[in-house]
Amino acid sequence: MSRFFSRRYSRLEPYVPGEQPRERKYVKLNTNESPYPPSPSAVAAAREAAARLNLYPDPECASLRKAAADTFGVRPGQLVFTNGSDDALNFAFMAFCSDTVPAVFADITYGFYPVFAALNGVPSVTVPLKSDFSMDAGALKAARGTLFIANPNAPTGISLPLAVMEDIIASDPDRIVVVDEAYVDFGGESCIGLIDRYDNLLVCRTFSKSLSMAGARLGFAAGCEALVSDLETLRYSTNPYNINGMTMAAGIGSLADGKYFEDNCRRIIETREKTAARMKKLGFEVLPSSANFIFVRHNGISGEDYYSGLRKRGVLVRHFNGERIRDFNRITIGSPEEMDVLVAETEKILEEL
Ligand SMILES: *Cc1c(COP(=O)(O)O)cnc(C)c1O
Repeated sequence: MSRFFSRRYSRLEPYVPGEQPRERKYVKLNTNESPYPPSPSAVAAAREAAARLNLYPDPECASLRKAAADTFGVRPGQLVFTNGSDDALNFAFMAFCSDTVPAVFADITYGFYPVFAALNGVPSVTVPLKSDFSMDAGALKAARGTLFIANPNAPTGISLPLAVMEDIIASDPDRIVVVDEAYVDFGGESCIGLIDRYDNLLVCRTFSKSLSMAGARLGFAAGCEALVSDLETLRYSTNPYNINGMTMAAGIGSLADGKYFEDNCRRIIETREKTAARMKKLGFEVLPSSANFIFVRHNGISGEDYYSGLRKRGVLVRHFNGERIRDFNRITIGSPEEMDVLVAETEKILEEL
């Protein structure tokens, strides 16, 4: 740290992204990327847009806005586009939390939430998951502050039904509920259809997971026009050109190829269910996942040892050191072939015990 670094940030502990190793080729199941490339129409659109990189991109994202509004059944003015949904989440912390309105989230959830709270200097309150690692809807309802709910949750993969989400949102119209739906396409129920009825609801979505565009950095938030205009104020005050032209074009291309998207989601769900069954056969506990990953633990081996055993054998998964979850590993659902390698290497590790 330099002696010039603002005291405001000097104690900030940044988010630690999953490893992106270069030194050897891993079966990479650690960052919930899609094993499938983006839609060919997304790639073609991005390539065409590359020829116009001399120009600033459209700050209003008008074409993408129209395409997304049609796809998600909302009005164009109910959307704000961001550089990955992480940026939408950060804007929500900036806009809707303060000294007197803490950020409220589960004790086990997306690791970026506490970082965004610290970055914006707002207090946070954590609500423990229940003993089965599901969200405690009652405790969330009772909490005071702006709620951040990943649904499905990460890293557990467990989702709350739409009716329960609506009950939380409706329970206090004077409290903002931010629903992070990064994984919703793999089996969750979206709250996006509720934004017309609840002006305290903001839904964050990403193109990174189910739309195979993690490298392009595209996300958005959906909510009533007033909430969206708050976020637009922040966006235009930081970087109105936050979505580059190639990414915007690729986003439109992706949305135009609904069949490719649906086929990929179906394949990943199928692979997830098969993999979960195989892991259970090997003695693993597998939490019920509605996401593109599974969260697993085994009585015979610590989470750390399983993680490093796999790593040595060329399979990368994600291990977290949190007290309640250090016996688990989060395993991204890759292609069927990648999951065959995971299961085969896991069998060898268990045999060696
Ligand atoms: C991956 C992820 C995101 C967003 O990722 P972006 O690539 O920034 O869109 C948001 N929330 C959760 C819980 C995630 O796992």
